[in-house]
Amino acid sequence: SIPLSFFGGIGGASKNGILVKGSNYLEALNAVDTIVFDKTGTLTKGIFKVTSVVGMNNWSEQELLAYAAHAESFSNHPIALSIQKAYGQEVDGQRLTEQEEIPGMGIRVRIDGKSVLAGNGKLMESEQVDWKPVRALGSVVYLAVNGSFAGYIVISDELKPDSKKAIQELKRLGVSQTAMLTGDSKVVGEAIAREIGLDTVYSELLPHQKVEKLEELDKNRKGKGKLVFVGDGINDAPVLARADIGIAMGALGSDAAIEAADVVLMTDEPSKIVAAIRVARKTRSIVW
Ligand code: ADP
Ligand code: MG
Repeated sequence: SIPLSFFGGIGGASKNGILVKGSNYLEALNAVDTIVFDKTGTLTKGIFKVTSVVGMNNWSEQELLAYAAHAESFSNHPIALSIQKAYGQEVDGQRLTEQEEIPGMGIRVRIDGKSVLAGNGKLMESEQVDWKPVRALGSVVYLAVNGSFAGYIVISDELKPDSKKAIQELKRLGVSQTAMLTGDSKVVGEAIAREIGLDTVYSELLPHQKVEKLEELDKNRKGKGKLVFVGDGINDAPVLARADIGIAMGALGSDAAIEAADVVLMTDEPSKIVAAIRVARKTRSIVW
């Protein structure tokens, strides 16, 4: 039987905007020693803004942005939305054929009959475009038209205001390892890890590699406590399911992530993880 105070604990958590899907997860939150975060939408706001557009090989800024906006017009990825917003005009759907979204990489479309790629370096590599990587403190979307490099767009996200403090407090509560898994570049991943004090960061991961990295990290960790994964995206559902405790950002998170999670944070604030652990400890001290 479940001690009554666990219901009290779950109720107390829900008053803080933390939904715990069972008393076993509340109990497990007492013994967390490793927390792994997704980046976009979890530690960062997931609100991207275009900060520069650079045309190359005779492509003007305006032309490049128009092509990018057409390519991204059917995608809901935060990167796509920021490009649509920066373009600020209606897209002419008749110019578009053969739309395809490649998870963890970008977009392949036909615009005015030309083959267009918009995505990260991995996409350029896999399509053998003669391109040049750019080091920027933001996500870089490269564009290629008919196999030739046409330029790039830099898009910046912001950290959530409480991410750094949450990491500090989790360490104070005895969490021995913090890490981040991201599909974004090494430059961005490492800058964020340094800024907020994460121990480990794995960058440039495809969605399925996130599960593999979590398993690798689980096998190699020294701690014997619970492994937590915190995420928001549709790509995160398998990782949320694989962790001992999956925590989803509930406000802007995808339905698949919320479904796969054991704990849902209604306000998307990383500091709610600290609050959840505190509620769990208080609950245990009442039960025992
Ligand atoms: P994250 O792990 O940061 O949440 P995702 O798995 O959603 O990232 O995407 C990983 C990377 O794939 C992005 O950083 C971006 O480089 C690229 N990408 C994904 N979707 C798109 C898109 N619609 N347009 C351009 N690039 C994209
Ligand atoms: Mg994400």
